[in-house]
Amino acid sequence: MNHAEEKLAQIDPSQRILLLPHCLRRVDTCQAKYTKQGLQCVECNPDCTINRLRQAALKLGYKGVCIAPGGQLALRYVKETSPKGIVAVACTKELEEGVHSVTELAGDEAPPIVIVPLSKDGCVDTEVNEKKALAMIALGCSLAPVRGSI
Ligand code: SF4
Repeated sequence: MNHAEEKLAQIDPSQRILLLPHCLRRVDTCQAKYTKQGLQCVECNPDCTINRLRQAALKLGYKGVCIAPGGQLALRYVKETSPKGIVAVACTKELEEGVHSVTELAGDEAPPIVIVPLSKDGCVDTEVNEKKALAMIALGCSLAPVRGSI
């Protein structure tokens, strides 16, 4: 475990948030609408990565999940929810900007950010290693989020 992962593992899920990029949705069939809080997933597809990761975090008791179309909205969500720990799935560019912004926002008090990079980048129908993402979401939790997934 790296330093951020060790710190996150000690934080109760109720103080953590999960940030997901909207590009992980199944763009051709997605029924979610965009709001000021990001994409509002309606759980239309059990095979959708966003659906599975979001449900895993909520089952573990996460404070919230933001499906963001961009770094600015994700940052606003961080400001509004003031989490003590963050798990973020994103492309390299968004991650670099996001981590920098959160650190700037909170200074020494910045929450640990555990990052799961996309395995297929590109803005539409992207992919992430779901097993790895689920393992990061469940760090320090005794309960596996989805049976047999880790
Ligand atoms: S499960 Fe959610 S994010 Fe995935 S395609 Fe359906 S509404 Fe969109």
